[in-house]
Amino acid sequence: MQSLETQLLVLGGGPGGYVTAIRAGQLGIPTVLVEAQTLGGTCLNVGCIPSKALIHVAERFHQLSEPNEFGISGGQPRLDLGQAIAWKDRTVDRLTSGVGALLKKHRVQVIHGHGQIVDGKTVQVGDTRIHCQHLVLATGSRGMSLPGLAIGGPIVDSTQALSPETLPRHLAVIGGGYIGLELGTAYRKLGAQVTIVEAQPRLLPAYDSELTAPVVTRLRNLGIKVLTENRVEGYDAAGQRLRLRSGSGDTASLEVDRVLVAVGRTPHTGGYGLERLDLDSAGKAVKVDGGCRTSMTGVWAIGDLTGEPMLAHRAMAQGEMVAELIAGKRRSFAPAAIPAVCYTDPEIVVAGLTPDQAGADAKVASFPFAANGRAMTLGDTSGFVRVVARPGDHLILGWQAVGPGVSELAAAFTQSLEMGARLEDIAGTIHAHPTLGEAVQEAALRALGQALHI
Ligand code: FAD
Ligand code: NAD
Repeated sequence: MQSLETQLLVLGGGPGGYVTAIRAGQLGIPTVLVEAQTLGGTCLNVGCIPSKALIHVAERFHQLSEPNEFGISGGQPRLDLGQAIAWKDRTVDRLTSGVGALLKKHRVQVIHGHGQIVDGKTVQVGDTRIHCQHLVLATGSRGMSLPGLAIGGPIVDSTQALSPETLPRHLAVIGGGYIGLELGTAYRKLGAQVTIVEAQPRLLPAYDSELTAPVVTRLRNLGIKVLTENRVEGYDAAGQRLRLRSGSGDTASLEVDRVLVAVGRTPHTGGYGLERLDLDSAGKAVKVDGGCRTSMTGVWAIGDLTGEPMLAHRAMAQGEMVAELIAGKRRSFAPAAIPAVCYTDPEIVVAGLTPDQAGADAKVASFPFAANGRAMTLGDTSGFVRVVARPGDHLILGWQAVGPGVSELAAAFTQSLEMGARLEDIAGTIHAHPTLGEAVQEAALRALGQALHI
């Protein structure tokens, strides 16, 4: 058995783990990072990046064949699926090898292998025991499974759905959340027939119905069938196809050739000795305080392992903070907002409080893209920007938007919340014309009763 000493050991090289290690390296902390698979974790390898690449390919392909008002016509476009997937994989490879280079630059020792926790200061990888003063757990999450729909063959999870060898004729997507809508829409745009089956009465139940309405309309226009209040429990073989069986609702007539299970993710807590630590938990997640400290001194946890919201930028922000705390800096994890983007068509972005969360006396105003010049020049005026502010001093509490390319508004939304902006600050800022961002200014103006273009 070999032995290695380090000040910091990071278990897991996803966005949370690799950012912790890079920041620790910058701060001069001797750091070892243990990763069982490819650096970059879920996000870079089988999550954020490949899904957005596939969504982009699907959008480009679809636009070529979609009837338009612009006078553009062409022949029937052809898709080389193999080339599309190869491009997506090259994009992923560029980023994951970039992470390796950054870790090397910051003198982080990367050990490839499955880490087994021995105790709060020791992790074993193969025949090497690594002893550390600080252990950061960044082991991420796993896709949840449905008992009657074990992954295999035509039943796929998001990882397999991101690298299909062929397109199904008819794809059923179980779960109308982030993954179901993002990938379901992409498959439809690539040419598959798609049915989304959701247990709740509405798609994307975490968002209000005003925000999801333009997405639901677009799904309908794309020909995607949506079955809500349907909880799928299994399937029967129907020749070469699958007939879905549901406990509630009626999917009995639904025969498909592939099923994507996208019913949520859960913290990854099994198979690496986590139970050897005496950690408090919060549901399935590892419980942490505002500094991502667990209930054991010297053991920290970040990212998806610590529960919702399971988003890459949250994991990265936590990782950066933990490295600084270990270096002795004064930090806490208290963001004004953790933005969230859903890469649907059109996109949804939220940051901060919703009107419901802000209370009945909050000032709420929306500005529709139908009155925004840039949206008109893009030929897509669906959606709106909405602002939520405190009555009295007009402190901005939250933003929501749905519309073309609104993911790029996430920065403006979050910056205004972090800086404690008031409606007057945004209303009085000159926004470039014509841009979608003008709808942000107009929403603030409207909340003040001064909207100019509506
Ligand atoms: P992970 O990225 O899961 O990394 C954990 C790492 O730990 C993995 O590399 C794993 O191999 C390693 N590991 C685990 N156990 C061990 C062990 N015992 N030894 C060694 N290594 C181990 N989030 C967004 O913000 N935006 C998006 O657009 C987005 N899209 C997504 C699309 C899909 C299809 C999916 C599935 C997820 C998406 N997410 C998105 C969520 C995002 O991927 C996660 O929130 C993020 O990856 C969490 O980072 P993490 O560092 O906590 O964990
Ligand atoms: P999700 O929680 O977003 O959606 C899961 C959906 O499945 C829910 O609407 C739920 O009601 C439904 N459901 C559960 N059981 C069901 C059943 N038996 N039959 C039918 N419907 C059922 O989860 P997800 O889409 O799997 O994504 C997992 C997580 O990954 C997200 O919560 C998010 O944290 C992350 N993610 C983020 C992005 C992004 O930021 N753009 C994209 C993809 C994934």
